Amino acid sequence: MLQRETDVAIIGGGPAGLAAAVEARNHGCDVLIIERDDSLGGILQQCIHPGFGLHEFDDELAGPEYAQRYIDVVENGGIDVLTNTMVLEITPTKDLYAISENGVINIISKSIVLAMGCRERTRGAIKIPGYRPTGVYTAGLAQRFVNIEGFMPGTEFVILGSGDIGMIMARRLTWEGATVHGVVEIQPYPSGLIRNKVQCLDDYNIPLYLSHTVVRVHGKDRVTGITISKVDENWKMIPGTEKFINCDTLLLSVGLIPENEITKKAGAALSRTNGPVVNQFLSTTINGIFACGNVLQVHDLVDNVAVEAKKAGKLAALYSKGVQVPTSMEKQIVRVSPGNGVGYVIPNVINLDVKEEFIEKAGSMRFSLRVRKPMQDIYIKMRSGQKELYKKFHRYVRPSEMIIFKIKESIKDFLEGLDIDTPIEVYVEPKNKQPGKRERD
Ligand SMILES: Cc1cc2nc3c(=O)[nH]c(=O)nc-3n(C[C@H](O)[C@H](O)[C@H](O)COP(=O)(O)OP(=O)(O)OC[C@H]3O[C@@H](n4cnc5c(N)ncnc54)[C@H](O)[C@@H]3O)c2cc1C
Repeated sequence: MLQRETDVAIIGGGPAGLAAAVEARNHGCDVLIIERDDSLGGILQQCIHPGFGLHEFDDELAGPEYAQRYIDVVENGGIDVLTNTMVLEITPTKDLYAISENGVINIISKSIVLAMGCRERTRGAIKIPGYRPTGVYTAGLAQRFVNIEGFMPGTEFVILGSGDIGMIMARRLTWEGATVHGVVEIQPYPSGLIRNKVQCLDDYNIPLYLSHTVVRVHGKDRVTGITISKVDENWKMIPGTEKFINCDTLLLSVGLIPENEITKKAGAALSRTNGPVVNQFLSTTINGIFACGNVLQVHDLVDNVAVEAKKAGKLAALYSKGVQVPTSMEKQIVRVSPGNGVGYVIPNVINLDVKEEFIEKAGSMRFSLRVRKPMQDIYIKMRSGQKELYKKFHRYVRPSEMIIFKIKESIKDFLEGLDIDTPIEVYVEPKNKQPGKRERD
């Protein structure tokens, strides 16, 4: 068996892996990126639309352009890369096994950064009745076909799910000469960014069917059409509202799930995002294993991926150099729970027993979350018992937009105000809340 040794091993060469690698290298570590694809860049290589890097580079780049900026730094910065190499397993003792055309490689690394991204939910995951004909694809796969492989998966499309990939593909397919008969969304609001609804659907007169779902796929060998139906607030189809749409292809854009097989095999605890549980240092429940990017939480903006990944890269580097970075399994931790209106919060736990000199090194304390439904005129609040730790007014919040906030006060003071028996709660409070009345999700 082949063997490699390094200080920081990074699994995944997408924007998270690249940013983490650059930061770990800047902290003086030997770094190895392991990527299963034949090139670096991750999902960005198929996102040829602009909209990347607005914050980080103050420039509106296409996905491959954004990725290339990092790839250049990686290639010129003495960072080792193994492409066409897939990590199969991290053992509970942190031994890493990967497979490439040269066989199995055992990689021994002082620390590991999980940056494997996420994958798309499939038809099986949402159980649409009907035959199993050719012509049902996930939207991301169709994006790869069109933008990288150079062929069209169909001519007459319907897209189920108004997530960003679905809406971006509606426009992309229209540009390629296809007809997109509509985007069908089970929620009463679009699930992707509003800018994508405007630029990808409204500008091309592509109908968006809100509170609708696909109830049947027709066709035995190839899709010949689909039936959609209106749904009630419990997502139950409303009889009599069915509508047949002639099409040869159904694209599914019905959610993304963190790639968590390796995380699970390593024995790391998972959170409600299906990514690993992490603390404020992006450390999993396993000593020396960190996580960032879509493997942790599905991000809407790549700039936020980069900020998170740099932190993971830095802390992995410090760990490799012998600094005791607390894991999320220590005794002195306090849980961070999503409260009213909040779907999840990262970090999942906060370590309280942090040495003072390390607080400075670790950098700012950031929280990220998504709300459960669109809301207006609300506060995002954080409390520990009766003590208010954070409060910010938002005119609008939507599940499609990740909310990020930083603790402004000194981290030392923030940590001193917490105790392990009182969980931290992050929640939504309407601006005009009536005393004693609790909002329902
Ligand atoms: C269609 C689409 C459109 C988007 N549009 C925008 C936009 O306009 N603006 C914006 O800012 N953001 C956008 N985003 C969001 C942003 O691009 C992503 O959040 C970001 O790419 C996530 O980076 P990542 O590195 O975590 O994951 P990925 O880019 O998915 O990278 C993960 C990498 O890990 C590799 N990998 C996985 N498992 C293994 C393994 N076992 N061994 C080795 N390698 C492995 C994968 O091959 C992949 O290269 C978009 C995302 C999508 C999907």
